[in-house]
Amino acid sequence: MGRVYNFSAGPAVLPEEVLKEAAADMLDYKGCGMSVMEMSHRSKMFQDIIDTAEADFRELVGVPENYKVLFLQGGGSLQFSAVPLNLMKNKVADYIITGNWAKKAFEEAQKYGDVKAVASSADKTYSYIPDCSDLPIRENADYVYICENNTIYGTKYHKLPNTKGKILVSDVSSCFLSEPVDITKYGVMYGGVQKNIGPAGVVIDVIREDLIRDDVLPFTPNLLKWKTQADKGSMFNTPNCYGIYICGLVFKWLKKNGGLTAAKERNEKKAKVLYDFLDESELFKGTVRREDRSLMNVPFVTGNEELDAKFVKEAAENGLVNLKGHRTVGGMRASIYNAMPYEGVVKLVEFMKKFETENK
Ligand SMILES: *Cc1c(COP(=O)(O)O)cnc(C)c1O
Repeated sequence: MGRVYNFSAGPAVLPEEVLKEAAADMLDYKGCGMSVMEMSHRSKMFQDIIDTAEADFRELVGVPENYKVLFLQGGGSLQFSAVPLNLMKNKVADYIITGNWAKKAFEEAQKYGDVKAVASSADKTYSYIPDCSDLPIRENADYVYICENNTIYGTKYHKLPNTKGKILVSDVSSCFLSEPVDITKYGVMYGGVQKNIGPAGVVIDVIREDLIRDDVLPFTPNLLKWKTQADKGSMFNTPNCYGIYICGLVFKWLKKNGGLTAAKERNEKKAKVLYDFLDESELFKGTVRREDRSLMNVPFVTGNEELDAKFVKEAAENGLVNLKGHRTVGGMRASIYNAMPYEGVVKLVEFMKKFETENK
C-alpha cells in the first residue's frame, strides 16, 4: 500500500518532501557520519539545527525582538500547568471555555489560584465561539486564556477576545502556522507541534520577554519555569532533538512555499471545497456555526450512527483514513492541516458524493 490521505487530528500528516529529506539524512546527516538522533545536543551540528529552526520560525511568523521562542517538552498539556505557574502574580486568571482542551487547561489552573470561566460554549456542545467583546474580565486577572482553534469541535476564533488590557494566552496547537498572526496581540502563544508542524513531544512557546520572570509560584518545578529554559536556549536538559530537527525542515518547506500568507490561501481553498459540499449535501452536515468554522478541523455527521460508521470504514478502504470523529461529537472529522494536499480534500469530497448517492 502506498501513502494514504491521512485526516488524523494529531499526530497528523507531514509534508512528503520533508519525510523524504529526513529519510535521506537518516544515516549520515550532512556528512557527520551519524543521524540527528545520535548526536550530542551540545554539538555544533545540533546547535546549528536549533538556531536555524528558531530563525526560520521567527521569520515565518514575524516574531518581534522582545519575544522569546522556546522549544520545550511535555506537549501542549504540560503548558496547562506552566501557564499558571509562570504567570500568576495575583493568583487570578480568567478562562474562556470553548472545548475539551480549554477545559483541561482551566481545570489544571484551578490547582494554583482563583480561576474563573468568563465565557463558555458548552451549552451547544462547543459548536460556536462565544461573543468575547465585553466579558466580565476581572480587574486583577493575571491573564485571559483561550484555545484558539478547537481541534475536537472544529471552531476557531476569527477575532481575538477583548481582554480589557489583560495578557492574552493562547493555545494554538491545531492552527499553528496555518495563517499569518500578529504576535504583539499575545502575551504567550504556544502549541504542541504534532497537529500542524512536526512529531509529537515538542511544544513551541512564544513568550513576551517581560513575562519570563524569576518570581513564579514558589513550588514551580525548575524545568517548568520559562526563565530556566529561556536562559539556556531551550537546552536546560536534553531537548527533543529529532523532533526539533523535523520542525526545522517543515519551517523550510513553508518558507519555500510562500510563507504563512500562501499557507492561508491554500488552507482556505482546501476548506472551501469541503464546506461548500457540506452546505449543499442532503446527507452530510457540518456541526459548527458557519462564522466560527475552522480551516483545520472539519467535523460533520450524517445524523445516523450506523451510516457514519459505514462511511468511515468505506473511506478507509479507499485510502482516506482517520476520519472518525471524536467520541464527544460522534460522526466524522476531517483534519486538513497545512500538509494535507488539495487533491486529498478533492478525493474526500468525491468519495462523499459517491457515498451519498449510494446511501440516500
Ligand atoms: C492536541 C492538543 C493539545 C494536547 O497536546 P499534547 O501534546 O497531547 O499534550 C492541547 N491543545 C490543543 C488545542 C490540542 O489540539
